Amino acid sequence: MSVIDLRSDTVTQPSTGMRDAMASAPLGDDVYGEDPTVNKLESELASRLGFAQALFVPTGTMSNLLALMAHCGRGDEYIVGQQAHTYKYEGGGAAVLGSIQPQPLEVQADGSLDLQQVAAAIKPDDFHFARTRLLALENTMQGKVLPVEYLAQASRLTREHGLALHLDGARLYNAAVKLGVDASEIARHFDSVSVCLSKGLGAPVGSVLCGTVELIGKARRLRKMVGGGMRQAGQLAAAGLYALDHQVARLADDHANAQRLADGLREAGYRVEPVQTNMVYVQVDGQAAALKAFAGERGIKLSAAPRLRMVTHMDVSCSQIEQTIEVFRDFIRQ
Ligand SMILES: *Cc1c(COP(=O)(O)O)cnc(C)c1O
Repeated sequence: MSVIDLRSDTVTQPSTGMRDAMASAPLGDDVYGEDPTVNKLESELASRLGFAQALFVPTGTMSNLLALMAHCGRGDEYIVGQQAHTYKYEGGGAAVLGSIQPQPLEVQADGSLDLQQVAAAIKPDDFHFARTRLLALENTMQGKVLPVEYLAQASRLTREHGLALHLDGARLYNAAVKLGVDASEIARHFDSVSVCLSKGLGAPVGSVLCGTVELIGKARRLRKMVGGGMRQAGQLAAAGLYALDHQVARLADDHANAQRLADGLREAGYRVEPVQTNMVYVQVDGQAAALKAFAGERGIKLSAAPRLRMVTHMDVSCSQIEQTIEVFRDFIRQ
């Protein structure tokens, strides 16, 4: 029985082409700046997204941390979504390691932050207050795509107030594929962008932070400080390069699979939220644990949450989506 793992798009195995690219990558010591494959990934992604420089890091968490610490100093503040990954799911790293105060705001139904609320949360220059330095957005946000026009408005607002604008673009390419635009059309509104290679793009490890020469210089120092300076990391970078060249357009398949899953579950009687990209949210209330166990016995891995999140990715096929819908039907019938 092949396992259908819908917990996250982080669970993918490297494809054969990716493994070959990793095995044959030229390597060097990246802390000396001498790994040609890491250098290639950094310059390639920086230029694709319209930035001067980029930095390869082990995780998206580290990428966001370095960005926040490069933009903000001790006693500075960043404005961020209450449900955003940087605020809620990164161990409070910006506060613990950067002494950066978060100013969380409730995320709107469409995944954005209300820009009037953002403007109202920017502190005046007064010694009572932390200095507001940065606005951090996330795109996609729980599978939702922020409209490009909204990004332009956020960019205008932050420039008017002298703030920097950071994007947690863990799933930047899902957003770009969904909108049918080049990823640079999203990235160009930001001062820094973090991209995960290990989510839907299907690489085993790695994220890339893009920004100005000055910002990436600071981030490089901070990366060493938090222990993220890797040596012959080119094998991992090769996976990222392969993903960017071969596994971006296929994200549309994941989005179609998510849509089909949502439609099938709705027909079966489940309460399913509208789907935009590769995430399906289903309200299962008190049934979460029972459903997880039932599905688990039938080869489907789910997380147990009343608002159940299922994520499609390259290791879930169309027929496995149909299989999943059947199992959910059987669960209701039993
Ligand atoms: C996964 C994720 C991250 C961090 O990635 P890790 O590599 O797991 O540290 C950051 N932001 C968002 C939105 C993510 O989904």
